[in-house]
Amino acid sequence: MVLNDPSLLHEQCYIDGKWLSANSGEAVAIANPATQEILGHVPVMGAAETQAAIDAANKALPAWRALTAKERSVKLRRWFELLHENADDLALMMTSEQGKPLAEAKGEVVYAASFIEWFAEEAKRVYGDTIPGHQGDKRITVIKQPVGVTAAITPWNFPAAMITRKAAPALAAGCTMVVKPAPQTPFTALALAELAHRAGIPDGVFSVITGDAVAIGNTLCESPIVRKLSFTGSTNVGIKLMAQCAPTLKKLSLELGGNAPFIVFDDADLDAAVDGAMIAKYRNAGQTCVCANRIYVQAGVYDAFVNKFSAAVAKLTVGNGANDGITIGPLINADAVAKVQSHLNDAVAKGANIVVGGKPHQLGGFFFEPTILRDVDKTMRVAREETFGPLAPVFKFENIDDVIKQANDTEFGLAAYFYGRDISLVYKVAEALEYGMVGVNTGLISTEVAPFGGIKSSGLGREGSKFGIEEYLEMKYICMSV
Ligand code: ADP
Repeated sequence: MVLNDPSLLHEQCYIDGKWLSANSGEAVAIANPATQEILGHVPVMGAAETQAAIDAANKALPAWRALTAKERSVKLRRWFELLHENADDLALMMTSEQGKPLAEAKGEVVYAASFIEWFAEEAKRVYGDTIPGHQGDKRITVIKQPVGVTAAITPWNFPAAMITRKAAPALAAGCTMVVKPAPQTPFTALALAELAHRAGIPDGVFSVITGDAVAIGNTLCESPIVRKLSFTGSTNVGIKLMAQCAPTLKKLSLELGGNAPFIVFDDADLDAAVDGAMIAKYRNAGQTCVCANRIYVQAGVYDAFVNKFSAAVAKLTVGNGANDGITIGPLINADAVAKVQSHLNDAVAKGANIVVGGKPHQLGGFFFEPTILRDVDKTMRVAREETFGPLAPVFKFENIDDVIKQANDTEFGLAAYFYGRDISLVYKVAEALEYGMVGVNTGLISTEVAPFGGIKSSGLGREGSKFGIEEYLEMKYICMSV
């Protein structure tokens, strides 16, 4: 990994504006999932260092909160610009530690930066309200104030965007934040801290701590100083963290697993549906929580869709995401490969047929062939579990009510997609899908201007959009007798 600016690569944590090693001196190696090459080491911090980061965030809070929204906005704007100015290095760092193709990594840098830009602007639009008094002498106003010290725990699949989607609204609102990035992708997080530092974000306002997830998580959850936790990751861990936060009644945002249906109706534009399926399924090698997990195609176009989809998948190029022309990188680790293989084996054993792919890639390591399965049914694990890999099971359905029932037959409710052109069908289906986000005739729904989030076991709260900043604000009502 040869960076234009090597000073973006930090092997220490950023706490209270200082670069620090673990108290124990312990560090852990971070490997490139494409090559297994060691990229560097990061500290293994625990409870004591986490407490120091919380205390620093608490100490920094009064001055940060007291700035005008515009003053905070100016610093955030600079942070946004620095992400763009360093986009090539950030993208290379992300590809090196996470595996996604460089073009996708660059796309993520832009996406990550967009949250900072958006919330730098929203900071100035935190409006309150005035309410006609309930008695002649009463004047009622509602103001919004930052919740205080906040924490974020983030996953490896979007090493930059999952941090900025939380930190930008928090800092814009006047909160301070301690971030624990995923153990697989700490360098991107630490580079964001370096850029926050260069942007003039004051010491303690934004800290990044790596190490023992359980010790750091416990300390963040149990702390009465931390007033909010925002987590993106698996539903199991989200449930654990919610329970851990209960005694201190923290505000919570949880963006958890998905099991997205992708429905193609008989009247759909099939070429557009294939393009959408390619993005919704194979982006980041299938490792996003909004990835199409179950593809339902109506009987009249089933064979035609499978043929066109297979032709498109056959053109994907698997390899090290840092190389030119690669469209599918490695999976994050051996467990991820094993999960894809086990879903595939289960489906094939129960009668599914492999159309393309179907095995680990000849490159070995964590590479897996982009795969399509046909003749899939609801008895198979692919119908119920999130695969989180480049495996597309294609189910056949006959009628609309039946496919809506199947699409909703999951504990999850994050994203859903469908393709169809009958306007009354579009409305009916969009309303009937029990999901927080629905893409109609598009496979790409993520943007900083819209509220991202799920229902049911996919979580709580929304990120991005004008709603995203509300998660970091408390409402206060002031009743004045005149
Ligand atoms: P994934 O399976 O995609 O890695 P996880 O939910 O395990 O998803 O991880 C998401 C984030 O949650 C990571 O930063 C991880 O270190 C963290 N994490 C995992 N387990 C715990 C825990 N018990 N307490 C706090 N954080 C945790």
